[in-house]
Amino acid sequence: MRRPFIAGNWKMNTTASEAERLVLEMLERLDSIGGVEKVLCPPFVSLVGISMMLHDSSIELGAQNMYFETKGAYTGEISPAMLRELCAFVILGHSERRWYFGETDEVVNKKVKAALANSLKPILCVGERLEENEAGKTEEVVGRQVSAALNGIEPVRDLVIAYEPIWAIGTGKAASGKQAGGTVQFIRDVVARAWDKSIAQDLRILYGGSVTSANIAEFISHPEIDGALVGGASLKANEFVGIVEKTAEIKGSTT
Ligand code: PEP
Repeated sequence: MRRPFIAGNWKMNTTASEAERLVLEMLERLDSIGGVEKVLCPPFVSLVGISMMLHDSSIELGAQNMYFETKGAYTGEISPAMLRELCAFVILGHSERRWYFGETDEVVNKKVKAALANSLKPILCVGERLEENEAGKTEEVVGRQVSAALNGIEPVRDLVIAYEPIWAIGTGKAASGKQAGGTVQFIRDVVARAWDKSIAQDLRILYGGSVTSANIAEFISHPEIDGALVGGASLKANEFVGIVEKTAEIKGSTT
């Protein structure tokens, strides 16, 4: 059974003190929800403070990015070893990284390798642009991104994949549950071919793109979708708690 998974990607929002206030606003309510894996991904500068706040809670921490080298002269970068002391997860290959910062499939692959080698669990993001979707190229694009990211990596269960169509991110225009579920099923098939069928069955694959407490039910009710990567709505305590509550209600596992 795949444990449902909800992660909040705060992106470049919240100063360190704002981030701590946001955590305080949701900590108790979020902590008390069982059956769902809950992950917060604040900006780097908040990881230390928030890791202390989450200590002894059921909420885990993730980073939004990292560099693939272990250490050295890479001014401004953050290494896997630095993150490993603070968090369990790291978002890799987010479309904003690919699009604004030129991250290629090859770079994403190096990052996934480095994260796993350092016991960090990647939340690997893939997704197509609007033109690609309209041209019927969703599977071609997403299939290429997934295969490239997993290239040369031994099969592992410590990986979460988020299908995030770029046209749905931050636009208020979410995909439909059926559309998203179909692509998630396709991604599972790609993993089964690249790795192994039983591992593909065990991997959590999420949907991301304009998820709110009002539409999460549509996604989480789909048998292939194991949770959500939430951007904008994760910055509002009531919204984020609402998304996790609905997920627990519909798909909460007993583990
Ligand atoms: C995201 O950036 O990962 C995301 C899904 O954003 P939003 O929920 O705001 O669309």
